[in-house]
Amino acid sequence: MKSGNGNRFKEENESAVIITRQEHGISRKLMNQNALRILYRLKDNGFVGYLVGGCVRDLLLGREPKDFDVVTNATPGEVKRIFRNCRLVGRRFRLAHIHFQNEIIEVATFRSQATDEPEPEPKAADEAEQRQRHPRMLKDDDGMILRDNVYGTPAEDALRRDFTVNALSYSIADFSIMDYTGGLADLNAGIIRTIGDPTVRFQEDPVRMLRAVRFAAQLGFTIEEETRAALVAAADTIVRSAPPRLYDEMLKLLFSGEGAKCCDLLRQTGLFQALLPAFSAWLGAESEGFPHTRFGEMLSYVDSRVQQGDKISQPLLLALLFGEYIDDKADRLRRQGAPWQQSVNAAVAEFMGETCPVIMIANRVGSAFRDIISQQIRLKKIPGRRPESFTERPDFNDIIEYCRITRGDKKDVAKQLDWWLAQARQPVPIPVPEGLAGETEAPQRKRRKRRRRRSQNGKSSADAA
Ligand code: ATP
Ligand code: MG
Repeated sequence: MKSGNGNRFKEENESAVIITRQEHGISRKLMNQNALRILYRLKDNGFVGYLVGGCVRDLLLGREPKDFDVVTNATPGEVKRIFRNCRLVGRRFRLAHIHFQNEIIEVATFRSQATDEPEPEPKAADEAEQRQRHPRMLKDDDGMILRDNVYGTPAEDALRRDFTVNALSYSIADFSIMDYTGGLADLNAGIIRTIGDPTVRFQEDPVRMLRAVRFAAQLGFTIEEETRAALVAAADTIVRSAPPRLYDEMLKLLFSGEGAKCCDLLRQTGLFQALLPAFSAWLGAESEGFPHTRFGEMLSYVDSRVQQGDKISQPLLLALLFGEYIDDKADRLRRQGAPWQQSVNAAVAEFMGETCPVIMIANRVGSAFRDIISQQIRLKKIPGRRPESFTERPDFNDIIEYCRITRGDKKDVAKQLDWWLAQARQPVPIPVPEGLAGETEAPQRKRRKRRRRRSQNGKSSADAA
């Protein structure tokens, strides 16, 4: 590999299939204008700049890309010198974030995958120091990549990506598309295929298995035979991935608009059983002769909402998908004598204990999820004490939505929901400045002061509770 930028890239481009501007028909009008500005600025400063990954794939499929990623031969330090609105981020991969008014565009330096070659001479002292602090490529004993920070050529950068359809790049120099891996043919055939040996690629990063499932479901593609066989064989190793990353990836999958299809594929390939063994076993069983159908129904419901462009909170998503499982656990605990509230809390704690070692649900999300389920009982207490303290809860809409979706078809429940929604629509009182009371007709809600009784040891009763 030569180190001079110009030569190096010319040489590498020769191994790519080039699809010219006339052949691919992607218009720059469909591209993110800030990403284009970055590409032009890099070019004006003598660097190479490409759009890569999902955005090129989606533009070719006529879909709207979620985000636009830029790669360049400029090092992060060089990118920072060109763009004033740039911040360098990331410890595992050093990346440049270019900040615009309402978005951030990520600019990465071409990277290569595993290499035994000697490192090229660092261009500057700070780069040398950084390399010393972060060794370039680190794999664990099982071949999983722990750190990968090796600068490379465009071809190497394409080859380290996950799937052929995700490795296409668009050059601003001549508006052509470069294909180093056969991605265009796979895109046309609707195939998800790993780049290189699928067994090795899934070993390096098991999360790629979830990505394969998501792209297949989202794009309506099939997973190529060898890739699928390797995935099924490696399904159990998914649990080796970092639990917070698995949570993020599961969220992407469930909010993809094709969550039902994704979960079917996860179950067919064994990934579902590996990720959620207890829940998966419960799903396949029955309670009192009835199959557990809510999970499937809720996946379809969430898909329809996402497809309409609606947002669903993470706690509500968990409640919709796992609520029936929690109810079942709580029923069991109640039969053993636990009071209602306690049984729900314990059931959610049990669920978190089963799930979090593999898929890390943040505590904050977990307690909001628990509240949606445990507050259902409050909906039955009409009017109860201070209904406004309930309607003013930040999660009031999620509590109502959960009730409506899971039990709203029952007449008495529908009535309760109507009552609560009417309460929530009551006009919010306008605060009246002191001395003007009586001069306005704005309705005023009386707030009773909470009295705190002091106990003998000095603690208030509220503290003690
Ligand atoms: P999406 O529409 O979900 O954004 P995407 O393909 O753009 O799909 P990103 O997660 O945004 O996915 O990643 C951008 C690109 O980075 C991918 O297209 C792929 O080339 C590469 N990539 C992402 N994750 C991995 C991975 N785990 N292993 C190898 N390459 C990856
Ligand atoms: Mg993307």
